[in-house]
Amino acid sequence: MGLELISNLMEVFTAEDPMAFDHPEGDPWADFREVMRIEWKMDFTYKHVLGKYSKFFIELANKKFITTKCENCGKVWGIPRPLCADCMSITKWIELPGTGTLESYSVSNFVPAFMKVETPYVLAMVKMDGADTLFTHQLKNYGESTDEIKMGMPVKVAYATEPVEHPMLLMHFEPA
Ligand SMILES: [Zn+2]
Repeated sequence: MGLELISNLMEVFTAEDPMAFDHPEGDPWADFREVMRIEWKMDFTYKHVLGKYSKFFIELANKKFITTKCENCGKVWGIPRPLCADCMSITKWIELPGTGTLESYSVSNFVPAFMKVETPYVLAMVKMDGADTLFTHQLKNYGESTDEIKMGMPVKVAYATEPVEHPMLLMHFEPA
């Protein structure tokens, strides 16, 4: 018995020295270049508390987009904040229309498998109508290609119609 004891073994191979040009006297890691690759399934379950942000997600489930406003300085936080970061006052919940303008975005063509999302994944930064800061979330249904995404285009919150595994997934952005 030997390596066959490792049921999930994918391969054992000798890796090359990627910096051979830097090791004229020989590879200092030569004895460590025998590399084992395994397939390792990791499955974790977390008990995750959403804390003071919970109401935001509860209302998303009711297809309402709410956020917080500081009654002291008037700032409306596009992502809710229980405490105003400008003046340290406790904020109040307000409802917004759920529309906004695309201020910036980034496109990921690789996403870790645990995220269970299709690529390209477009992360949008949206100035919500009625808010003073940007809200970041996924942009979907933008058309055939990411070339159709334009800075400054109007977008809106789209609410989940199927059960989701995390309250974050109760919404995404779409072109308005
Ligand atoms: Zn404030």
